[in-house]
Amino acid sequence: MKSERIPVKSFSADNGFIGKMQKLVREEVLPYQYNILNDAIPGIEKSHAIENIRLAAEKLRGKDVKPDEFYGMVFQDSDVAKWIEAAAYALAAGEDPELEKAVDETIQLYGASQHEDGYVDSYFTVKCPDKMWTNICDAHELYCAGHMMEAAVAYYRATGKDKLLKIMCRMADLIDQNFGPEENKRHGYPGHEEIELALVKMYEATNEERYLKLAKYFIDERGKKPYYFDIEFEKRNHASHFSYLYPPYGMYSNGPKYEQYHLPIREQKSFEGHAVRCMYMASGAVDVARLTKDEGLMDTCRTLYQNMVQRRMYVTGGIGSTPKAEMFTSDYDLPNDMVYGETCASVGMMFFTKRLLEAEQKGDYADTMERALYNTCLAGMSLDGKSFFYVNPLEVEPIISKENPDRAHVLPVRPAWFGCACCPPNLSRMITSLAEYIYTIKENQIYVNLYVPDQAIIHLENKTIELETVTDYPYEGLIKFNLKTAGEYEICLRIPAWSSNKWSIMVNGEKVQTEVKDGFAHLKRAWNTGDTILLELDFEPKRVYANPKVSKDVGKVAIQCGPLVYCLEEVDNGKGLQRIYLPKDSELQLERRTDKLLGINEIHTKGYRLKELEDETVLYASDTNWEYEPVDLTYIPYYAWANRGENEMTVWVHEKA
Ligand code: ZN
Repeated sequence: MKSERIPVKSFSADNGFIGKMQKLVREEVLPYQYNILNDAIPGIEKSHAIENIRLAAEKLRGKDVKPDEFYGMVFQDSDVAKWIEAAAYALAAGEDPELEKAVDETIQLYGASQHEDGYVDSYFTVKCPDKMWTNICDAHELYCAGHMMEAAVAYYRATGKDKLLKIMCRMADLIDQNFGPEENKRHGYPGHEEIELALVKMYEATNEERYLKLAKYFIDERGKKPYYFDIEFEKRNHASHFSYLYPPYGMYSNGPKYEQYHLPIREQKSFEGHAVRCMYMASGAVDVARLTKDEGLMDTCRTLYQNMVQRRMYVTGGIGSTPKAEMFTSDYDLPNDMVYGETCASVGMMFFTKRLLEAEQKGDYADTMERALYNTCLAGMSLDGKSFFYVNPLEVEPIISKENPDRAHVLPVRPAWFGCACCPPNLSRMITSLAEYIYTIKENQIYVNLYVPDQAIIHLENKTIELETVTDYPYEGLIKFNLKTAGEYEICLRIPAWSSNKWSIMVNGEKVQTEVKDGFAHLKRAWNTGDTILLELDFEPKRVYANPKVSKDVGKVAIQCGPLVYCLEEVDNGKGLQRIYLPKDSELQLERRTDKLLGINEIHTKGYRLKELEDETVLYASDTNWEYEPVDLTYIPYYAWANRGENEMTVWVHEKA
């Protein structure tokens, strides 16, 4: 059975929470990021990304360009690619001649930086053309190509313009000539996965089977012995790209697990190493498994998913417990203050879960997608769209971040930009393409994965239908669907795990009993135009506890309401958040605050704070009579933290019996 996503073009969400986010990205974030890529915003970390491409183009036209004129990371091109992709989705949602012109000019320039044989990558063109394909472990050539392929497909779908798609077909063809099982080709795979899922998109856009075959090749080749990265390392006489980060051997020195080649994918049982790489690898693997009907590979993806969500994911949907190489560590190792939780990793988790939903419709995948979206992903960007988190902690004390080098990565405020700027444009492209995540279409079934106020045009097997969703989600649990097209089809509504004990569905005002299968309530009937479905989910604030094996959360409690995880901030609750205790029976009261943080639900409750000692000479004592003072606590949604200056924050607090 084929499953489809609805194209961004068939969807509009002009109001509501997600609609506002999309508008912010379209109107503020994309122009802002374009200016950054063009180095037109003074006083922030330089990007130089577009200038690098210009230099590559000029060099190909015979101009004397010095290698040192390239500036930035080896994957600087990918920032441009992600921006084009995000812009493409924005253009699919609505015309914007100025944005389209900026994209066209960028594509024109990028095309001018393509070599005659199809090769395109500004780093190697400007800096070291003699080193192409010699270090695919560290040097991100396949990664950058993958990102630009995704941009090419998105822009083609949005505008019908195929210039970038043709550029990337030539690059894909060149890669196909260089990599594969044949004797005369390199038997390698990318150090940073990405191109696998991109090649699948290229295959779906062009019907060129070779691209799907190449994606499958990269997935199957990974982890075979002898390791390709050992072979190319020897051929390079041990020269490395990232030796300044990981001396002396570069990323290679982080060992096979870092780049997921410690085992063939099919033998892997848990995600290991760099979390973003893991998500991209698994996303490509699900795509290939679905399209080639490879049940063994699909099983591997299920196993990896289960291990992650049952043992290695934060309550906020963050992944990657250590700043050391941005990696997964071991089961249940989820420190709140040392966490990495890269924004890109949670965006990658959305890519992975979206594909799992396309392969099989299980509500749990959508629960995880939603956890990542409404918590870590959205925390990655300030409410004005002008600053971004790379790292997403669950506990911050600003003074410690400043003074303890082990926590220097845990920032209490979002910077405007980064030298390594992977996260901001990744977030932009995810937010502008959210239409593709909300529904999964399967013949005559519409699976509603996420609840977003929108108007959607949905192409079923034999019919095109219009569906309107009205809701204030994620700030209320009432979701109304207005069916605008008559006919027989099935609507499958996700019942999130957090609401599985309390929910109801009414059709045209009458309560219905319906079967819930794999987390979805199925409603199949001959619908009339004007029919309504009302879903009510449990929006009581709830206490959440971690598995006792998560040692850092023992004796602690977090608060969740609907899909939103909540946190305490110093600005609402005073200093010393780590001394706060929440009684088990303290009532949690929800208050709508349209005036605060662009409109949120606050949660109010009563707790205690362990008082500071009057005698400041005491560090340790045997006889304690330490006192607790009652405090009124105000929780805000986690995604909205760090929008009111530098201050303490915590998600987990001690529970008082
Ligand atoms: Zn990132």
